[in-house]
Amino acid sequence: MASCIFCKIIKGDIPAFKLFESEKVLAFLDIQPLSYGHAVCAMLPVMIILVIPKHHGALLTDIPDEALSEILRKPVAKKVAVASGAEQYNLLQNNGRLAHQIVDHVHFHVIPKPSPEEGLG
Ligand code: 5GP
Ligand code: ZN
Repeated sequence: MASCIFCKIIKGDIPAFKLFESEKVLAFLDIQPLSYGHAVCAMLPVMIILVIPKHHGALLTDIPDEALSEILRKPVAKKVAVASGAEQYNLLQNNGRLAHQIVDHVHFHVIPKPSPEEGLG
């Protein structure tokens, strides 16, 4: 979709730090890692990763099963969280305006949770 920010990132028209890419899925760093909606300690910089299907659709019900399966079941979300050094992660998906979705292209926020041994958990 021409006016969609995330479709522009997929095409390479807007720069993004990409972490993973396949035929159906793209993972990249969120431009605003410490937004209010992310429940982490405000004193610590936490890298938030966005994982999106390449198929444009605003809501989960608009997205083909194969792309959702790759994100959740393979799972791309876990791989990118572990690659960031975290053992576990929160997965947040705002589905619709009332649920605080701003960008109308389905995306999963992957919020890595460092292990307690690192003193950040
Ligand atoms: P939402 O509230 O729609 O679930 O979250 C949208 C997310 O997209 C926000 O966390 C915001 O920081 C991120 N975002 C918005 N525009 C851009 C952009 O141009 N580049 C990147 N990397 N992230 C963006
Ligand atoms: Zn889009």
